[in-house]
Parts: sequence; structure tokens; C-alpha cells
Amino acid sequence: MTEAAADYAPGDCWAEIDLDKIAHNYREAERRLAPGARIMAVLKADAYGLGAESAAAALAEAGCAAFAVTTVSEGRLLRQSGIQGDILVLGPTRPPEWPAAAEADLALSAAGLAHLRQLAQWATGHSPVRLHLEVETGMGRTGLLPEQAAAAWAVIRGAPALRLEGIYTHFARGARRDLAYTERQYARYEEFLRAYSAAGGDVPARHVCNSSVFLERPAYHHEYVRLGTLLCGQWPFTRPFPGPGFALRDPWQGKARIVHVWDAPAGVPVGYYGLYRTRRPGRLAVVGAGHAHGLGVAPEFYPKNLLDLLKFTVKKAALLTGRRLGGEKILWQGQEVKIAGLIGMQLTVLDMGARDCQVGDEVLIPLRRLQTGYNVERCYTKGGRVVQIRAF
Ligand SMILES: *Cc1c(COP(=O)(O)O)cnc(C)c1O
Repeated sequence: MTEAAADYAPGDCWAEIDLDKIAHNYREAERRLAPGARIMAVLKADAYGLGAESAAAALAEAGCAAFAVTTVSEGRLLRQSGIQGDILVLGPTRPPEWPAAAEADLALSAAGLAHLRQLAQWATGHSPVRLHLEVETGMGRTGLLPEQAAAAWAVIRGAPALRLEGIYTHFARGARRDLAYTERQYARYEEFLRAYSAAGGDVPARHVCNSSVFLERPAYHHEYVRLGTLLCGQWPFTRPFPGPGFALRDPWQGKARIVHVWDAPAGVPVGYYGLYRTRRPGRLAVVGAGHAHGLGVAPEFYPKNLLDLLKFTVKKAALLTGRRLGGEKILWQGQEVKIAGLIGMQLTVLDMGARDCQVGDEVLIPLRRLQTGYNVERCYTKGGRVVQIRAF
């Protein structure tokens, strides 16, 4: 991380991230918390691409004191960046990682009964090891089963070095309109809690909600809600949400620079396979962004039925004429411009027509934040000013 120099000019492709908007989303979510609940910010996968250290710092400044990540190394990174709040590692961890996790004061998750026993054995003789129990209720991934609650309590009772701080579960279908499956998962979670306390255990902090269920079920907020998507500025549903609006702000903008221009005649084939051909004389602009930066990388698509196949074909056909469906636009000075041909590895051609664009001009591009690697600079702004750069 380098401090911003006043005359800093980013390279040819970068992401601009507005830290004020992350803080805004946090405050907006906070207004919707049920009494007694707090936000645990999920900053896995480099804070969904925003950059974990800067996103965490912005959230901490907004008042956030609890964070979650998937791996020990993600947790250590947050600690090293100066985060003093609670940091929970949600993913399963292995014994070689535990000393480093304890040293960084991270809380670990028990991913199963055998895993819990291993943790208990290791914790004995160490200073207190902070722990959350994950309950497997229908995600089919990690966690203890409700039937193992009494056994879990027996392990914890026998290992005073384990400091149990939370019991949680994760919903698999929370973004669905129909929450029947989510409700069944919640019932399984409650079953665990009942059996755990019937066996004699004290139930610590409970947390079950991700972004979508947080919005849908205030009754499930409990002590913490674990929010990633919403704080990072993305709506967790593909549908509108009923009820009072959530003033979500997207902090992320992909940007690239024009690195070359040329005035081409009509009929010039552009890019791999020559799938695009200029229809009239005009300016072609090459921008320094492509697949390698996360530009337009869509998940692999396998048509499941005839309708899917039809949609896929229409999209591909639209691509060849320089149009893109799905709301992705490339903007130059606020005007939508066409991509000419296929996106390249690090270079992409735009058909600018009669527009008088120049080398060095900025364009807004749909950089997919989760596909935007560490190699792409993150340029952070606050109050409209660049305050920090994360350069590769
Ligand atoms: C990713 C994740 C979350 C956050 O989910 P969002 O829908 O992005 O808010 C919460 N809990 C766990 C276990 C997760 O893996």
C-alpha cells in the first residue's frame, strides 16, 4: 500500500473504490438491525475484490468491530493491517495453521466433531483459543450436526482452553423468493441450540444471517449478522425487494485508459477470428484492459435446456454486432461505446466512430470485482479525493 502522491496517475487499468460508500452501506445496514444485533463484516476474497485492508479500515472507522474471513491468511492480513476488532475465520483450518491464528488472536471455526476434538487437544496447553461452532443445517459443506450438540458440549466442557464465543450456521438458499428451505435450516440450527443447552452448555453469540436473510428476517438477527455483499455495495437478490428501500451505494468503478487510436476504413476485421468488422470509417481505440484484469469474464455457461441455448445464442449474436446484453456498458465521457470484437488478454478494441477520443482518455469498464486480481491497482477515494493506492 502506498500513500497517494498528489500527482499520482494510475496505469492503464485500475479499480476506483469510494470508501465513503462502503461506510454508507454499513450505516444503512446498521439502521435495519434488530435491537441488540451487531454487524460482523465478511471480508473474504479480498473483501469481494474491493481490497480487504482498506475496506476493513473504512468499516472500522464507521464503527464496525467484528470481521470474518474464510482463511487464516486472510485473517492475519487484516490483523497486520491494524484491525483490532474480533476476526473470525469461517473456513475449515488445519493444525499447521493454528499457531499463527492464535498468535494473531483470530477466532477459529469448528468444522465438524472430529475437527473440534483435534482443536481441543491442541488448545490444551495453549493460551485461550477463541472458537465458534458452525452448525451444518443444509449447506452440505462444513459444520456439526444438530445430533452432535451434546457431544460438542462434552468436548468444550473438557477443554477449558477453548473459549467458545459463537454458534452459527450458513444459509444456502437465502436469496430465493421462497424461504421454506431457509426456515428448515433455521429450525435445524435451533435444534442444535436446544440440545446444546439441554446438555448443560451456555449458548454464546448466535449468528445466522447473510445479506439476503438479514433483509428478509429481522427475527434471525440475534447477536450478529454476517454481511458481505451488502456492505460491498451489491444487492443480494436478482429481484427488487419489497418494503422500505435500502439506499445501497456501489463503491466500485472499473477504469481503463486508451493506449492507442487509429482511424480505420470501413470493412476492417477487428480482433481474434475477425468476428467484428467496421461498418463505416471511424476511429478505433485500444484500451489497456482485458480478460487478465477481469474485464467481462463471465462464468462458464452450459445451456441446460433449449430456452437457455436460445438465450445464449442471442447474447453471442448481440456480441458480434458490438452490443452487449445484461447492462454492461463501456462509457467514454458518459457516452456508451461499442466493443469491437472479442475482449483480448490485456487489450480491448472500442469502435469510437466519429468520436474524437485520444490516447490517455479514461473509459469506464465493467471490471468484475471478484475476477479482478491483485495485479490490478486499487485507487481509494474519500470525499472525492484519492487517499490511498494499492499497487501491485
Ligand atoms: C460469504 C459468507 C457470508 C456473507 O454472505 P453475503 O451474502 O455476501 O452477505 C456469511 N457467512 C458465511 C459463512 C459466508 O461464507
